Amino acid sequence: MFNNFDDDLSFESRILEAGAYFNNPTDHPEALPIHLSTAHNVEDLDGLQDRYDKKGFCYNRNRNPNRSALVEMMNCVEGGEESIGCSSGMAAISSALITYTKAGDHVLSDKTLYGESVEIFTDILEKYGVETSFVDFTNLEEIKANIKPNTVMLFTETVSNPMIMVPDLKKIADIAHENNALFIVDNTFMTGALVQPLKFGVDIVVNSLTKFANGHSDAVCGAVTGKSELIKPIYALQVLLGTQSDPFTSWLTMRGMRTLELRIKKACENATALAHALEKSPYVLRVSHPSLESHPQHKLAVEQFGKNFGGMMLLELPEDREKMNKFMRSLNLCHYAMTLGGYRTTMAYPPMSSHSNFTKEERLAIGLTDGMLRISVGIENTEDLVNDFLQALEKAYA
Ligand SMILES: *Cc1c(COP(=O)(O)O)cnc(C)c1O
Repeated sequence: MFNNFDDDLSFESRILEAGAYFNNPTDHPEALPIHLSTAHNVEDLDGLQDRYDKKGFCYNRNRNPNRSALVEMMNCVEGGEESIGCSSGMAAISSALITYTKAGDHVLSDKTLYGESVEIFTDILEKYGVETSFVDFTNLEEIKANIKPNTVMLFTETVSNPMIMVPDLKKIADIAHENNALFIVDNTFMTGALVQPLKFGVDIVVNSLTKFANGHSDAVCGAVTGKSELIKPIYALQVLLGTQSDPFTSWLTMRGMRTLELRIKKACENATALAHALEKSPYVLRVSHPSLESHPQHKLAVEQFGKNFGGMMLLELPEDREKMNKFMRSLNLCHYAMTLGGYRTTMAYPPMSSHSNFTKEERLAIGLTDGMLRISVGIENTEDLVNDFLQALEKAYA
């Protein structure tokens, strides 16, 4: 009765049970307590050895009950053997990338990524003698052509930021493995509730749990998940770098994730409805969402994601700053914020946030114009949300 659930239970049920009684084997509280203690008292020398052997608790930076509960939940959410809980999505990404690269290595990365992930390659790894090439991960030939004898890693996102492109996970995993390289994927935009990259042959999945996973815009957190043998070295580095999630953040993030499945499916439903409505508007130049037949990887998205295409979309309006400002001010249910994946719909302007370090030419090279807004769709009533966007377009552009 206490956490003896079967592996064949559905995702919806498992996410409610995972880690529920962590470190409370006798009194089974319905809500997990928060363990703030930096250390746990140990009986004697044998006791300490026992804790080392059984992943018990000694010192917070190494392990903490709330972080270990989050790890158990992430193993369930991403369908992986082992995870680490990190202080942010960037802590997860940097810990994974630094563990698996060394001077003289080459990395092949998608060219449209979360801006700060690009900077890890260009500003940090570069400094330590790791070279990165950025290519279009929706083009398999381009990937193959840019693999070098020293390529150790391929890196992309399940749905890329901010262009909302969809790479073929299975085929890219095959290319990586034929060349003895690791394939690492950032699953922040979709989460394991919609797609589990590990099932497609991806080696390591990284997540910013700050976004849809926690979903309440009140905690910064991240995780890395994969086979135990691949996660162990990342954990060892994390202990040295101190990139672990703290007890309260781990607790908040787990609390948010209990309802991930419900929230993200509603966000997908809203995003699909909104994308279709906006595509028909005479004021809109283009909408990019994998649910649309006009999306270049729509067929692949159906194969990979089924009928849930994620809550992220790109809206292209004419490059007229005054009208864009008026549009943004006229929206009532969509708020301008430097985050995504919360329960309310939010928008971002990539040229002034994630891609503000790019020149206009560099932005255009990845297809990013100055009329593009990235929309993160929330869980509002569908009709209210669509009507709000249509009235704001009318006010700004009619
Ligand atoms: C936000 C985000 C990150 C970074 O996550 P933080 O929790 O802010 O550190 C990484 N990748 C993607 C796709 C993101 O959206």
